[in-house]
Parts: sequence; C-alpha cells; structure tokens
Amino acid sequence: EREEARLAAATPGSGALHERALRTMTGGVPSSYQSRDPWPIYLTHGKGARVWDVDGNEYSDFHNGFGSMVQGHAHPAIIRAVTERVGLGTHFAMPTEDSVVVSEELARRFGLPQWRYVNSGSEATMDAIRIARGVTGRDTIVKIFGSYHGHHDYVMVSIGAPYSDIGPADNMNSLGYGAGIPQAVIDLTVPVPFNDAPAMEARIERLIAEGRKPACVIMEAAMMNLGVILPEPGYLEAVREITRRHGIVLIFDEVKTGLCVAAGGATERFGVTPDMVTLAKALGGGLPSGAIGATDEIMEVVASDKVKQVGTYNGNPLSMAAARASLAEVLTPEAYVHLDRLNDRLIAGCDEILGRYGIAGYTVGISSKGCVHFTDAPIRDYTSFMEHQNAELPELAWLYNANRGVLMAPGREEEWTLSVQHTDADVDRYLESLDAMAKDLTN
Ligand code: PLP
Repeated sequence: EREEARLAAATPGSGALHERALRTMTGGVPSSYQSRDPWPIYLTHGKGARVWDVDGNEYSDFHNGFGSMVQGHAHPAIIRAVTERVGLGTHFAMPTEDSVVVSEELARRFGLPQWRYVNSGSEATMDAIRIARGVTGRDTIVKIFGSYHGHHDYVMVSIGAPYSDIGPADNMNSLGYGAGIPQAVIDLTVPVPFNDAPAMEARIERLIAEGRKPACVIMEAAMMNLGVILPEPGYLEAVREITRRHGIVLIFDEVKTGLCVAAGGATERFGVTPDMVTLAKALGGGLPSGAIGATDEIMEVVASDKVKQVGTYNGNPLSMAAARASLAEVLTPEAYVHLDRLNDRLIAGCDEILGRYGIAGYTVGISSKGCVHFTDAPIRDYTSFMEHQNAELPELAWLYNANRGVLMAPGREEEWTLSVQHTDADVDRYLESLDAMAKDLTN
C-alpha cells in the first residue's frame, strides 16, 4: 500500500488522464493487459533504454512493449528506414523489395526456406495453425498448458487456470480462457505439460487411438509467459522426435524468443529445427508485424492457394522497412554479444541479492530475457508455477521498480526484456530496486 500510494503521488498526470479515459475508453485502456493499479502510467516518449511519462518521470525500460523493443526506443537505423518509407507511401497491398530482403534474411537465420507475413503474433499463430490443419487435413491441435500464443480462439485455451482445474499430466483439461470461446473450439485444443515429453507422447498416442490425431504441436521452445522457463536437456529433441515419428507438424512460437535470444531465435539457440516458426514483436522494431516461416513442403499448400493466407496489411511497406533495418543494422551478431553480457550480469546480480537477504527464489534468463522466480522449488511447467511461485512478490516488485525508475511488464507471468541500447547503468538500477525490496522484506 505504501508503494502504491507513492506511485500515485508521483504520477498525478497519468491519474488525471485515466479518469478522463474511463469515460470513453473501456476500462481506461486500449487493451486489457495495459491495466495497472493505481492506474496505467501514460508515456510521452522513449529514447534508447529509457522512457518518460506525462509527469516527467524517467524509467529504464525493461517492459519494452511486451518484449517488442529489443532495438531500444527511437533507434537511429529504424528512424531512418521508417522516415524514408513514410515519404514514399505507406500502404499498397502490393509487395515491396524490402519484403524479399527480409524473407532471405529470415530464411538464413531460422533455417526455414519459406516465409509469409501478418501484423501481429496472434495472426502468425492463427495462420500457422490453419496451415498445419490444411496440410494434414486434421482438426485437433496440441499446446502446452499455460502457454499464451495470442488472442484468437484456437489458442485461448488452458492458460491462466486455477491449480485445481489443471488435471493430471497425461490428461490435462481443455479450458477456455475467458468467456466467448466456443466449447467446440476449446475441445479441439489439447494441453500437455511443458518439459514432459513422455506425457506429450502418451497424450498424442491416446488421441490417435481415439481417431483424433493432431495436426500440430504449437509451443514455445523456452516458455516466456510464466516468467522464463527453459527447456530441460533433451526435451526439445524428444518433442522433435515424437512429432516427426507421428507425422505431426511442430510449430515453435517464437513471437517472444525470435530475434531476442539469438539471431535465429530459440531455433538456433537450442539447435532443434521445427517445421514452422512464428515471429512478431521484435521483428518490426515497434511497428505491427508478424511472420510465419516453414518448409517448402508445408508452404506448398499456401503457394497453391489450398490454404488461404491473406490480410490487407500483410507485408506492409512500413513494417517491412523497419524489419529490414532491424535485421541488417540493429540485431547484428555484436548486438547478441552485448545482450548476453548484460543479461548474465543482471541474472548473477539478482541471485546475489536473493542469497544475501535469504529470499526464496532464483533467477533465470537467456540473452535479452529473464526473470526472478520467487519460489521455494524449481519451476519447470504450469503446475509447478502455480504450486510454488509466490503470487504476491512479483506484484510488489513491479511497484518497487516503478517507484525507482524501472519499468517492468505487468503481471507475474512476465519477464524483463533488455534492448541493444541498455547499458550497465540500467542493470544497476534494476539491481538497486530489487535490493531495496529485499531489504524492506527482511527488516
Ligand atoms: N505468442 C506468444 C509467445 C506471445 O507471447 C504473444 C504475445 O504476448 C503472442 C503470441 C501474441 O502476439 P500479439 O500480442 O502480437 O498478437
């Protein structure tokens, strides 16, 4: 309460805008995950690793637009590419050369030869699933319990469920995430636990026996929506083997990991190549964008127009210009060396603080991504997350951070994202904030 009152006192301009917004913008926000107590902070601008709010407060940005801004804010290369493009016309619904260059570079990075474009992560996973269904002629899909893949009906299933509703590892429940998802669609999406290849295989074999062979398994190679959960050794290889053996399309949803954990995303980092990859977020450097990569064989159903992959803004010239500049000039091999070094320092610093104050938990991360798990046991899937993760400390940490010039994505499921423009000074700020909270908690 003290920290919330302190934030309210420091952000009266945001409070006034929130009151005004409540009259005409539902819930006072453009999108539900932007809500926050005491109210959402209204930003005016960002530069590099920093953003400023309407009251003039400065923050080191670890939220980075839900992990989209790995380039940092107002990067000169993106400004130049987008500014040039604006003057040449921003939308034709006809291809521009940039889309070819982006496809060539993505094919090189991800080892998948064929690419198509959309405007968000949700569109990317929606189209990828439809393509997988079109290729296989099957309806059922398998996802990881607790994974978020966007806001369309196919995947708004078994995400933020109470512990008591999860079900056993080899027979988890398909549960709609919020109202409005048809039960018939929910029933087509079958969840399995992360980091448990035998449970996945058992479930798939049962589905096959029931005449419901899945079209695809859609998953993040490293989970980024329960904080960060890394794959245990051998897990991704086992999933690759199971899906290949049964002729099931393996989709790595790299909306959060792609271009953020290595040049070629989690696919490169973990050395396991799926049949399809979905990208969004960091691809556009802050402009709406998304992409689907796949093998020649899979994308043949799109090339032949058997599966319709369409959209007015697909391959939008502004997004493609930003993506081209990002890939060519910003997200370079040196950028990942910088991100890895800063992230390793931040992870070690957080662990040192937890250890020094005797706070239960550990820190986990990869390249630009990471989080502190406040927990009394290792977190390896949704069940252990719900059982062991302290539900209050991440919320308290968000307030401590905001009051000390550190902006984090809201919610206990979110992680930090560093940008190529972050420096040791930003890492210091984060560590000072965690230190302040740890000190108060143990006093
Ligand atoms: N997939 C993953 C792994 C995500 O984290 C998200 C969004 O957070 C999405 C898909 C959906 O992306 P978007 O919000 O751009 O539709």
